Amino acid sequence: MDMDVIIIGAGAAGLFCAAHAAQRGRRVLLIEHAQNIGERIRISGGGHCNFTNREVSAKNYLSQNPHFCHSALAQYSAADFIAFITSNGIAYHEKTLGQLFCDGSATQITNLLIAQCLAAEVQWAHPAQVLHVEKIAKASSTEATPHNPRRFCVHTNVGTFRCTSLVVACGGLAVPTIGATPLGYQLAEQFGVPVIAPSPALVPLALAPDTLDVLRPLAGVSLPVMARGYPHAPQFAEDLLITHRGLSGPAILQASSYWQQHTPRAPITLDLLPGIDPHVLFTAASAIRQSIAQVLAEHMPRRFAQAWAQIHGYTQPIGEMSHQALEHAAQLLKHWTLMPSGTLGYAKAEVTLGGIDTRALSSKTMQVSAVPGLFFIGEVVDVTGWLGGYNFQWAWSSGWVAAQHC
Ligand SMILES: Cc1cc2nc3c(=O)[nH]c(=O)nc-3n(C[C@H](O)[C@H](O)[C@H](O)COP(=O)(O)OP(=O)(O)OC[C@H]3O[C@@H](n4cnc5c(N)ncnc54)[C@H](O)[C@@H]3O)c2cc1C
Repeated sequence: MDMDVIIIGAGAAGLFCAAHAAQRGRRVLLIEHAQNIGERIRISGGGHCNFTNREVSAKNYLSQNPHFCHSALAQYSAADFIAFITSNGIAYHEKTLGQLFCDGSATQITNLLIAQCLAAEVQWAHPAQVLHVEKIAKASSTEATPHNPRRFCVHTNVGTFRCTSLVVACGGLAVPTIGATPLGYQLAEQFGVPVIAPSPALVPLALAPDTLDVLRPLAGVSLPVMARGYPHAPQFAEDLLITHRGLSGPAILQASSYWQQHTPRAPITLDLLPGIDPHVLFTAASAIRQSIAQVLAEHMPRRFAQAWAQIHGYTQPIGEMSHQALEHAAQLLKHWTLMPSGTLGYAKAEVTLGGIDTRALSSKTMQVSAVPGLFFIGEVVDVTGWLGGYNFQWAWSSGWVAAQHC
């Protein structure tokens, strides 16, 4: 069968791209191998899909090419997506830090995207396994014109399809149980497109046994911190959660992406008293013979305060500690460094860091500069958002941009 556009992957980016390309009059085929469409959208944002953020800019993304995402985000912005869902009757609310969630179920978004595809007569190969993709040397279809040659042949277990534009939207490697595969990276390799080595991101961090032995009894305790993935990385003021295997919570997930990006690995840094000067606390407490644990317990969970003071051997009253020891304690509280032993991997990651090297793509169209007709969109590309709706916004923006040119 001959199509104008074949899109591999009916996730956020693929569905959005398919609907908009078909609305432009392109004959579009969506290929999806998973039984359930939009599974990642369904489970996102605790079932309410944090579909974008009020404030989105290139600084909210990690990439080897940090300004690449700017063009797509400007061409199709968060305001555009908000207008899109509002005009389609989906109610939403802001939770925190500009993060927008559906009032109802996340499946409202999936249903809307599927409905848009159906209305625009997108065709489906679903469920279908991609077996092999071939580049067609010359225009071989009778329907093709010299300006619109069929360039790619996609062999699947449900048939063979030819197309002018091939859009790879098959996502990253996070949560393999809901359909993640490395097909996007394999196709990039096949077509000579460089790939930045993928790794799990927005992922809980594991700790070495000696640190874990001390912290494990505190599993379930959470506290507000400022976290950094390496010394000069962006700082995130959110919650830290102690787990049985290490550290999690939004502050750690955010820092984890930067920790993964930095080579060689550097310790993460935690400010355990965000916005508070420990010297002021120590001065006030010295007169009333309080220990560091007692002072800290007024600003963080008592169990954590006690464990932290114990780890560092701060047991005596503050008034009996030397100036140097107090100075050191203040330093540690504002810059507590921990070296993770690793991450909990793709099974627990929200996204994949790395992917298709954006230096091989046009930022205006998402097309591979050296392979006319080949596009990469969404998470498969080396553009990784912070936690907070930025990853879906990248899927919408990159999908929309490709839809205008494929
Ligand atoms: C638990 C969880 C919660 C999340 N919550 C949020 C959130 O609230 N806000 C946010 O911004 N981001 C969130 N994310 C990240 C967000 O879901 C992704 O960044 C986004 O879905 C990426 O869109 P995509 O279309 O590029 O990839 P995907 O949505 O992953 O879609 C890729 C599609 O390709 C299909 N596919 C893969 N391989 C093949 C193949 N070989 N053949 C055919 N089809 C294939 C997959 O089955 C899938 O349907 C969350 C992620 C997880 C795991």
